[in-house]
Amino acid sequence: MEGFFLSSSNVTSMTVYSYSRLETFRSCPLKYKFTYIDRIKRPFDSVEAFMGSRVHAVLEKLYADLKHQKLNTLQELHGDFEARWRREWHDNIIIRKKDYTADNYFEMGRKCISDFYERYYPFNQASTLGIERGVKFSLDPEELYRMVGYIDRLDQRLDGTYEIHDYKCSGSCPEQPHFDKDRQLALYQIALGQVFTDVKDVELVWHYLVFDKEFRSRRTSDQLESLKTDMIELIKMIEATEEFEPNESALCEWCDYPDLCPRQKHFFAVGQLPVNEYLNEPGVVLVDKLTKLEEKKKTFKAEIEEEIAKIKDALIKFAESEGIDVVRGSAKKAKVKIEEVDKYPVSGTKERKLLEELIELAGCLSDVSSFDLKKLAKVVESGSWDPGLVSQVKEFAVKEIKPLVTLSKLTEKDLLLEEEIKD
Ligand code: SF4
Repeated sequence: MEGFFLSSSNVTSMTVYSYSRLETFRSCPLKYKFTYIDRIKRPFDSVEAFMGSRVHAVLEKLYADLKHQKLNTLQELHGDFEARWRREWHDNIIIRKKDYTADNYFEMGRKCISDFYERYYPFNQASTLGIERGVKFSLDPEELYRMVGYIDRLDQRLDGTYEIHDYKCSGSCPEQPHFDKDRQLALYQIALGQVFTDVKDVELVWHYLVFDKEFRSRRTSDQLESLKTDMIELIKMIEATEEFEPNESALCEWCDYPDLCPRQKHFFAVGQLPVNEYLNEPGVVLVDKLTKLEEKKKTFKAEIEEEIAKIKDALIKFAESEGIDVVRGSAKKAKVKIEEVDKYPVSGTKERKLLEELIELAGCLSDVSSFDLKKLAKVVESGSWDPGLVSQVKEFAVKEIKPLVTLSKLTEKDLLLEEEIKD
């Protein structure tokens, strides 16, 4: 049993992956680089993380004391929570949601503890084998791909079933399919199977404390094998990566590196300026100029197109009245022709689908589908084609440096980031 657990100080000598390390790469390779390669530490904490850690600590105390035959009252646990909160609160805690205060989060954490206490009192559902303990395990028999993790609570029921418990203080509550696909606790199940010889039944248990909800799920051995393969593939991908690209997503809101990330850095810098200086900031000036010119171009184009349509109409009328089909100008001539063209249904419509089915059935679809180069570049980069075909196709490609500037509207999220920085 002791060999199964490790202290965090043991995890130093080789690349040992954790679930959160792998998930960070999956969500944003650049954030992965900042966190695990450059090891850039940030002094601040989000209030949600601060609250979650204090709730975890109180539940850890609850089960540690139970092991010593001490059953805390709810009041004692609330007292412990409050003492930790006051003692550990610091000035670098960020409250992103402006509608809420630190007190709201404190009460939220307190309620998590009350609900948990009332739901599981007197905490005799199973015997607790470990609390907030580290686990190490391998994804392959050769132990080339090694991982570590921390189980919030490991229990064993009277019928021998192991339970891997995880506490979450998240403000959103997923549905059952999320738990049936969850990788973190399934990885800990792999760890369990490598240490104990009596592991037959394992249940994965999540406590969504803010919602007073418990979720359970199980994994088959086939699912665990396929998870090992997926994780090994991901590790291989990480180790082969040279360019760690940013990947913008809803998770950027929680990222600690907006001042370093090329996608957020300018927002971060501008957010620190007062409005009068911000409008003169060189980047802001350039984007504003480009925006004005693009708008002007749009208006101009619309006006010109309207004028062209009017002139074409007048030319048709003139040619008709003169009984001619070519009209001479000083440098050019205009050919006037009225013809009837067949217009086919646009893609995405029911009629278009039927039309394509009809042509396909006749075996003629390849006669009318065109070779789309943009689509080709996308498919080649997506990794869905055989690597041999990709390298053959890439031999046809010529590298071209193409500067690309696209304007898009500032989103609420962008403005929120600046607000936070100003605050
Ligand atoms: S801000 Fe977003 S894109 Fe940039 S490093 Fe962080 S998670 Fe990645």
